[in-house]
Amino acid sequence: MSADCLFCKINAKEIPADALYEDDQVLAFRDISPQAPHHFLVIPKKHISTINDIAEEDCQIVGHMQLTAAKLAKQLGFSQQGYRTVMNCNQHGGQTVYHIHLHVLGGKPMGWPPYQETLKTPIEQ
Ligand code: 5GP
Ligand code: ZN
Repeated sequence: MSADCLFCKINAKEIPADALYEDDQVLAFRDISPQAPHHFLVIPKKHISTINDIAEEDCQIVGHMQLTAAKLAKQLGFSQQGYRTVMNCNQHGGQTVYHIHLHVLGGKPMGWPPYQETLKTPIEQ
């Protein structure tokens, strides 16, 4: 647990969330600001700040996050139509909460590419 981490606080039930699934490794809950008819997040119980911080020993957990996403998409009834899973990393990826989370978006067709024209120019390093 990282003291100032929003998602660690959600894992610890210090901040409420609309949970969909929980086990000893992951928690899934609805995004507070949904960007699609279905939008939930799957997070690990372990604090991992970014994709860059995933260690060999975390590979099973990260795979379990993806499998949880697929199982919930099926349960919620949108797996056959399809959906998008996204994990943003750092500034260019659009990450705002520094505890890894898999976004699961569904219930309508997703756009591609996943950025706006105005953001095509690389941000200054
Ligand atoms: P990121 O931009 O880091 O990829 O995604 C962070 C996501 O967390 C955003 O989609 C945002 O709406 C969601 N979020 C931020 N704070 C909260 C919160 O307190 N509760 C829930 N359920 N979602 C949150
Ligand atoms: Zn955390």
